[in-house]
Amino acid sequence: MTGPARPGDTPGHPTQRADSPGAGSALDPTAGFATNVGTPHTTPMTGQVERAEHLGMPGVRPPRYGFFTDTSVCIGCKACEVACKEWNHVPADAGGSGSGPTSEAALQGMDLLAMSYDNTGALGGNTWRHVAFVEAPPKRPQETGGGDVRWLMSSDVCKHCTHAACLDVCPTGSLIRTEFDTVYVQPDICNGCGYCVPACPYGVIDIRPEDGRAFKCTLCYDRTKDGLTPACAQACPTESIQFGPLDELRERADRRLAQLHGQGVVEAQLYGRDPDDGVGGDGAFFLLLDEPEVYGLPPDPVVTTRDLPAMWKRAAVAAAGLAVAVAGAFLGAS
Ligand code: SF4
Ligand code: SF4
Repeated sequence: MTGPARPGDTPGHPTQRADSPGAGSALDPTAGFATNVGTPHTTPMTGQVERAEHLGMPGVRPPRYGFFTDTSVCIGCKACEVACKEWNHVPADAGGSGSGPTSEAALQGMDLLAMSYDNTGALGGNTWRHVAFVEAPPKRPQETGGGDVRWLMSSDVCKHCTHAACLDVCPTGSLIRTEFDTVYVQPDICNGCGYCVPACPYGVIDIRPEDGRAFKCTLCYDRTKDGLTPACAQACPTESIQFGPLDELRERADRRLAQLHGQGVVEAQLYGRDPDDGVGGDGAFFLLLDEPEVYGLPPDPVVTTRDLPAMWKRAAVAAAGLAVAVAGAFLGAS
């Protein structure tokens, strides 16, 4: 799907510069954060330039692309949620997307959970980006001016797993891996069986109730194949959501983590960055300021289809044993 020019295409947006006023404070998580200043298509994303060189070159495989979401600079503006909905024509969270009540307000697309500033609640068929607003106890009193709550904001999304169980279990081949190593759902092939929903270790993919088929983040495949930054990353004003080649993002994340640790933010940690974890690492990984559980993320995700080959093997051995026993009984009786 390649659409006409849309709001997410506007080049350039306000950025937090390393030399901006206030940079350098030990308690300012953005201090000294070298961001992708300028037009995303030309400067930051070396990946953009690099990938553009691959476009239109048959046989040349592009590198793996993904997201590094640095939650330490997320301000909870929800620009990513809105940009995702606009670009991908994702309906409002009305009528119960798996994330909210089915009240009259919800049916009109004005779903307020009345629990926090988080009015989307969770990822779902109609919510491909979800900005979590987590109220947590402060680690250091000066962070909250003596208050007893600190805000943790994080824009969650499909992890585009290296080993994606959703893709493994899909019986129609609707879920595929793209040339960018992202996981993509083809709605015109999805039959709505829902097998992918419990298979996802993160609870990401979901059936859209009013439609019956499964939906989730496509990593804006239509944009990436045209050399554009995904809508959510393009719209993020603080560049909390960074898009590019995964190798490059991992290096950038390592530098940012070391910087935060150097500033005394010792609880900062990377989530989904490790290629040796239970899903082989995530194509969309995060820098968190607390334990994953605090953000509602599983601490040790494992690809749910991991044990299937061994189970099939044991079932085959059991079936063969049974066949031998039946044959033996038949021959013995005759
Ligand atoms: S996070 Fe879930 S939906 Fe996304 S690729 Fe992994 S298994 Fe599939
Ligand atoms: S990359 Fe995913 S979450 Fe971001 S705008 Fe595109 S579909 Fe939405």
